[in-house]
Amino acid sequence: MMNIIVLGPPGSGKGTQAKLIVKELDFQYFESGDILRERAQEQDTLGQEIDRIIHQEGKYVPDEMVVAIVNDWITEAKLEQGIVFDGFPRTLNQYQNLQKILTERGSGIDKVIYLKVREEESVRRLSARRICPQCDLEFNLVTKPPKKDEFCDQCQKKLIQRQDDAPEIIKKRLKTYYQLTRPLVESVRQQGILEEIDGERSIDEIHQDILERIKK
Ligand SMILES: [Zn+2]
Repeated sequence: MMNIIVLGPPGSGKGTQAKLIVKELDFQYFESGDILRERAQEQDTLGQEIDRIIHQEGKYVPDEMVVAIVNDWITEAKLEQGIVFDGFPRTLNQYQNLQKILTERGSGIDKVIYLKVREEESVRRLSARRICPQCDLEFNLVTKPPKKDEFCDQCQKKLIQRQDDAPEIIKKRLKTYYQLTRPLVESVRQQGILEEIDGERSIDEIHQDILERIKK
């Protein structure tokens, strides 16, 4: 069965696209953020350490911790169903570890989808994100605007911007992302399994493009 990695800088819409693939092809979904947050709630040493790291803005959880969690997850996954990886791997080292974990179970990585979005477009999209302080509903003033000004559709509270989405923190996140991910992208390109996709089109156009590349 096929295993796919969806890569892209913050604001590239990779989460949306990963979920669409999961839905269309009935794959399992590995979303590193959710899985890390879940793990952080377990009050053991690893959970507490992850909790501390993910609450420092712009910081990433170290490879060995993420890899340990991925290993646990894959051990329980149904490998005959296919997996979409979203938000992991982020580094070449994580990628090589994932390959090793999958190879040991007679599986592997078949395609890496890379959503290309210019840096200024990432910044534009991310700085338009808003969240309701009361119900946590998410909006985007560009792509998913609230019905009324900057107020929550559900509870009419004034929307706020996450600290993480302040312009200077966005730029820091993007810089970190490209530094960490570039060697991974180059390695995958040499292996011939990289599919670079123009991420500045409509959600549906991108989705159709991805499906064609997966099927070929
Ligand atoms: Zn609300």
